[in-house]
Amino acid sequence: MTATKSPVLEATGLSKHFTVRGRGTARHAVVHAVDDVSLALFAGEVTALVGESGSGKSTVARLLAQLMPATSGVIRLRGEEITVRRGKRFRAYVRSVQLMLQDPFGSFNPVQTIGGTLRRVLRMHGRDNAEITETVDRLLTEVNLTPPAQYAGRFPHELSGGQRQRISIARALAVNPDVLLADEPVSMLDVSIRLGVLNLLAKLAAERALALLYITHDIASARYFATTTVVMYAGRMVEGGPSEVVTQQPAHPYTQLLVASAPDPGRPLAPVPPGGLGAPPSLIDPPQGCRFHPRCPLALPKCTTEVPPKFTLAGTNGHWAACWLHEKSES
Ligand code: SF4
Repeated sequence: MTATKSPVLEATGLSKHFTVRGRGTARHAVVHAVDDVSLALFAGEVTALVGESGSGKSTVARLLAQLMPATSGVIRLRGEEITVRRGKRFRAYVRSVQLMLQDPFGSFNPVQTIGGTLRRVLRMHGRDNAEITETVDRLLTEVNLTPPAQYAGRFPHELSGGQRQRISIARALAVNPDVLLADEPVSMLDVSIRLGVLNLLAKLAAERALALLYITHDIASARYFATTTVVMYAGRMVEGGPSEVVTQQPAHPYTQLLVASAPDPGRPLAPVPPGGLGAPPSLIDPPQGCRFHPRCPLALPKCTTEVPPKFTLAGTNGHWAACWLHEKSES
């Protein structure tokens, strides 16, 4: 009998709507930032959440980190439904689920050394003084900043972008989390050093049995880095499955355009329509039915009125697409 894996962190039907006031008017509008997102993160595995700016992927990360309340939906940590806002329960949750931001510079105290920043985190989470110095050295070594003493005494402005992102990883690991939510962790780094940081994250996920959510707009990197890839468009999940399948045999027309427009030396160039991907829709009044229908070259009449559910695709392990084109081919 095969044992079924249980997710460490799981979201079911997560939605987030923001109410905003129109400029110069008292009227309120609702921004549908995230609608009906379900995700499962497993120990030692990398899951990529891919989408353009404004697709809702960073909002999903903040919801999973419980930095904002969800409008609806459920979050489960190790199978237990959990909603936290502040206080002890929030601190305990943060110890298990860490969020890493795109640009860590703003989150460092500019007048505190790197060693001081890491010591502060360890003290806040109850480590005693005897083990703190040793732990700081171990963390810096783990993120390949050696010799550790040389980096512990530096200030954030004395480090490169890649070194700061490694410190940001060390800070997240300081509390031994089960889950790491990495929001565009390499998008602000030089291309030449991105691979090193991604490889480090993958190695740490495997060694520490971390459930890692890798949020990115770069679908090509998801193929090489993540076990599973989920694609978001205009606040909704549109496709998901094993990364190799999603990136090499994309089933949803949006993913196909995303893949075609991403440079990938391992894939022949596919034609991208004139004008590229075009502009995503407003989330204040998103299109009815499939949100991609105004840009979709293959739209059917029902696409304008009915939201496509997830269709599981035949012959592929866990590959699905929320697209009416796959209604008949569901396995
Ligand atoms: Fe295109 Fe329709 Fe599929 Fe949406 S559901 S991607 S509009 S074919």
